[in-house]
Amino acid sequence: MLKFIGSGSAFNTKLGNNAAYYKVGNQMLLIDCGSNIFHRIKENNLLEGIEHIHVLITHTHADHVGSLADFIFYSYYGHGEMGKPNVSLYSVHDVKIEELLTINGIIPGVHCLTKKCQSDTQYTLNFCKVLFEWSSHVKELPSYSIELYIDDKLIYYTGDTNSLKASLRNPNESNKVYDYVYVDTCKADYEGNVHLSLRKLSELVRPELRSKFWCMHLDEGFDRQEAEMLGFNVVTNEF
Ligand SMILES: [Zn+2]
Repeated sequence: MLKFIGSGSAFNTKLGNNAAYYKVGNQMLLIDCGSNIFHRIKENNLLEGIEHIHVLITHTHADHVGSLADFIFYSYYGHGEMGKPNVSLYSVHDVKIEELLTINGIIPGVHCLTKKCQSDTQYTLNFCKVLFEWSSHVKELPSYSIELYIDDKLIYYTGDTNSLKASLRNPNESNKVYDYVYVDTCKADYEGNVHLSLRKLSELVRPELRSKFWCMHLDEGFDRQEAEMLGFNVVTNEF
């Protein structure tokens, strides 16, 4: 369903920072824009035929926003009609993305359009519906998961987190049945981990539910085969 520009954790330079995208006609949805994502977008001509990009931001760790300012400046000066904003940014107000971008020299409202969202509130974008939900990650920064409704499919994208909400573990008890669940998964497994280890994910998700789960944000020690043997899917980068 979603495609991935990068599917790695902060230090996984081989797979790149975790960032998903989806294209419909001349519009593109992009989730996060970490340190090496602008480079990958440009090198792979990902913006060809795209006139407007809707960017959803989960949180402000550098592996999720590190090249966002470069991307916005490029879209303003180097892609499409010069001097016309073609990026719309969506994030929850307490993520403070406007403050971050302003320090980078971006003028919200000029170089890009911004929407300060409320959590647990659904917003209708050009071709999809979006809802941010608070997720457990680090205490220094607010971090959000994203529920997406695109082409009659309900998608859950955890962003960075070390937990899984109950309705994902027990869909029978929920009024929401997700078609795709993209979940931050790592090999690293230690007390206080701010990401979700494959071991913990396996404890939380019963085998019969695992075919809807897609591991992403993979660390270097992550064993794709091990995850697949357990019944999970693992995302791959795709341009
Ligand atoms: Zn993070």
